[in-house]
Amino acid sequence: EEYTRRKLSEKKEKTLGMIKPDGVEKLGQILDEIYKRGFLLTRLRMCCLDRNQAFRFYEEHRDKPFFNALIDYITSGPIIVFEIVNTNAVDNWREAIGPTDPSRARTVAPTSIRAQYGIDVTRNVVHGSDSAASAVRELEFFFPSSGPMLPNTSKGGNCTCCL
Ligand code: GDP
Ligand code: MG
Repeated sequence: EEYTRRKLSEKKEKTLGMIKPDGVEKLGQILDEIYKRGFLLTRLRMCCLDRNQAFRFYEEHRDKPFFNALIDYITSGPIIVFEIVNTNAVDNWREAIGPTDPSRARTVAPTSIRAQYGIDVTRNVVHGSDSAASAVRELEFFFPSSGPMLPNTSKGGNCTCCL
């Protein structure tokens, strides 16, 4: 009963998770990592980003030296995005994925998803919103409360990278 009361009073939070193109190639293993940790996925979709969409999603990084590499990578194949609902979803999911650079992750968080499946600092398998405010923006980006699921692309909304 105490457990039930605590559960009910715990504040649920939402975050956006993403399996990036290299992660989609290891989909079963990544989904198993999510499942093992007990994350509740409440919305999910597979899509491809065109370059304009990728620019908008990662606009905070537009002046970074790795920006072009990041855009090439994230548009290189299909991605899977999902909404996670959990207590402290933002922090818990960030902890599960581990540090940005997989080689650092293998040192400081060897059981994290990036440590186990990441290839290099660009191809790091998964994404997670970095704050509650980012989560709101990023969830709205992929799961808009009104309008189309994603803004139409130059190719009429069709996936352009996996045809
Ligand atoms: P995240 O929040 O841990 O995903 O990291 P950031 O928001 O700082 O960066 C966004 C994404 O850009 C990362 O997940 C990587 O795919 C890529 N990235 C970040 N930092 C670097 C870097 O120093 N070099 C390269 N090549 N890619 C990076
Ligand atoms: Mg980030």
